[in-house]
Amino acid sequence: MLKFFSLLCLTLLMSCTAERDSVTEPQLPTTIMAVFAHPDDETTVAPILSKYAAEGATVHLVIATDGRYGVTDHAGIPAGDSLIDVRKDELICSCQKLGIEPPLQLTGRDMMGMEIGMDAFFGELIGIEDQLEAVIDSIRPDVVITFGPEGDSGHPDHRLTAAVTTELLLSGKLSYLPELYYFSHTKTQAAKFGDWHLNYANEEYLTTQIPFSETDAERYYDAIRCHQSQFSTQQMEEWIAAERADEDKRIFFRKVVLAKERQTGF
Ligand SMILES: [Zn+2]
Repeated sequence: MLKFFSLLCLTLLMSCTAERDSVTEPQLPTTIMAVFAHPDDETTVAPILSKYAAEGATVHLVIATDGRYGVTDHAGIPAGDSLIDVRKDELICSCQKLGIEPPLQLTGRDMMGMEIGMDAFFGELIGIEDQLEAVIDSIRPDVVITFGPEGDSGHPDHRLTAAVTTELLLSGKLSYLPELYYFSHTKTQAAKFGDWHLNYANEEYLTTQIPFSETDAERYYDAIRCHQSQFSTQQMEEWIAAERADEDKRIFFRKVVLAKERQTGF
């Protein structure tokens, strides 16, 4: 019986392989848009942005805030306009290294206005959603990428940017519905960064697992080095060394699937 089955598999090699291996190879999207909170958040998925751009897709990066409060000891740049300008240049540098379109920065403030009270906070979220709606509807990406609910480091801006992006797509305000993917680290990947204490999602649910090449990885490392106001040289080189040591060159996502079948109970 086993012999017969093997023979059958040999005869119908394609169908047997397809049955055993349920991985699907989607067509290359024409336009991809990553939506994140801060200038430097794009590094989380940078190799994939580089990969798709190199394969011919148009890849856009939307950053919801200006990063004015991203003060670091090593850079010594005070919060406010000077830091906004520095981070804007760093973000442009990062997009150039990745070979993607110049960044689209919305006018949100990092910390989402939380430092000046609830009214500002609500206003901030509304402003970001309105601007994001206009950007998505004018560029019409096939695929939108944002953080999963755990938000990488768990920063409130990360979680809120993901929530606002998801809210917008679910609202029906857009003239069409792009595919939505949440980026997450796996537990193993989060552990790689040691005391950064990154959040992660169960790998079983991260069913979109996109491999990338050494060339994409090098572009990612170059993009990291653009963000000098955020990371000291030592921090950047330790980060890059941790990535080089990881032979599993994949970025993980969860496709957000919206059921349309109606039901009358759970
Ligand atoms: Zn961030």
